[in-house]
Amino acid sequence: MTVDLRSDTVTKPTPGMLEAMFSAKVGDDVFGEDESINELEAKAAGIFGMEAGIFCPSGTMTNQIGIKCFTQPLDELITDQTAHVYRYEGGGIAFNSSVSARLLYGERGILTAEMIAPEINPINDHYPRTSLVVLENTVNRGGGSCYTLEQIKQIAALCKAKGLKLHMDGARIFNALTRTGDKAADYGKYFDGISICLSKGLGAPVGSVFLASRETIKYARRVRKAFGGGMRQAGFLAAAGIYALDHHVERLKIDHAHAQILAEELAKCNWVTNILPVETNLISFDTVEPASIVLQKLAAHAIKASSTGPNRIRFVLHLDVHPEQVEYAVKVLRGVHGS
Ligand SMILES: *Cc1c(COP(=O)(O)O)cnc(C)c1O
Repeated sequence: MTVDLRSDTVTKPTPGMLEAMFSAKVGDDVFGEDESINELEAKAAGIFGMEAGIFCPSGTMTNQIGIKCFTQPLDELITDQTAHVYRYEGGGIAFNSSVSARLLYGERGILTAEMIAPEINPINDHYPRTSLVVLENTVNRGGGSCYTLEQIKQIAALCKAKGLKLHMDGARIFNALTRTGDKAADYGKYFDGISICLSKGLGAPVGSVFLASRETIKYARRVRKAFGGGMRQAGFLAAAGIYALDHHVERLKIDHAHAQILAEELAKCNWVTNILPVETNLISFDTVEPASIVLQKLAAHAIKASSTGPNRIRFVLHLDVHPEQVEYAVKVLRGVHGS
C-alpha cells in the first residue's frame, strides 16, 4: 500500500470525472466559444457572488493575473511572508507586474487589519504606492489555517477606506469554508478578486478560476493572453472542474477528519516536537531528526510526504487517501518510530 501525503495535487480524476470530461461540449475558448468553460466560469462566479470568472491553467496564473489587474508598475502589495504569491510563484510579482512586496508576519500566515494599517505607505514620492493586499486562505505554510469572516470584513473595510484592492489566493478556499461554515457568497462582498484552484482538494487534473467584476475580467482576458494562457478546446478540463464543484466539495470534511486522526497519532510520537494546530487537510509538524531522515524512514514504508523546512514535515490529505490508507499510516507512525 502506498500513501501519498505530499500534496493534494497528486489526485487522479475519478471515473465519474473522466466520464464528464469525455462528454464535454467544447469550442475555441479564445473566441469565447467553449460552452463548458463558459459554464464553469459562470458557475464559480455564482458560488462566490462575483460577476465573472476566467479559467486558467494554474493557480499561479490566476494569482498573477489578479496582481496584474490590481496594480500598476512601481506599486507595492502587502501580504504575509509565507504567501504562495511571494514564495512559490517564481518571483512573478516583480517579473509580471513590476511591483514590490511588503511582507508581514501574520499568526500562522493570518493577517489582521491592525497589522496591515501601519504598513500602508503615505502618498509621497519616496514610497511605492500601496495598492493591493493579498490574503491566502487557507494558509499553506500556516498548516492550513483559516481566516474568520470577521477578520476578512475588517481588512476589507480598511482596504476600502484606503483605496486598496483586496485579492484572495483561495487555492484551498473550499477547505476553509468547510472548516468555518462561512458562505462562499459572502466572500464576493469583500474581495475584488478571488483565485480558486480546482486541482487541489477538489481533485481536477488542471485548472484554476480567477473571479472578479465583469470589467476586471475583461482586462484579465488580455493579461491571460499576454501570459500565454489562452487555451482552445480546454472545455474537457473545465468539465472536470464543474464535476469537482458538484461532487468534491461536500467530501472535504472527510479529508479534515483524516487529518485529525493522523495529528492525534503524531501527538503521541516522541520523535515529533511540535504540531501546528490542524484546522483543515494539512498537517505541519516538526521533528527531532532532520526532515530528510524522517522522510526516508516513512518512504521505506511507502508513505510519501514532503518537508517545508529543515525539521518540518507536511502531510496533506486528499481524495485519493482512503480510510484504510489512514489506518495503515497510523500503524506505521506507531510502530516504526517508537511512539
Ligand atoms: C497550489 C497553490 C497555488 C497555485 O499553484 P499552481 O500549482 O500554480 O496551481 C496558489 N496558492 C497556494 C496557497 C497553493 O497552495
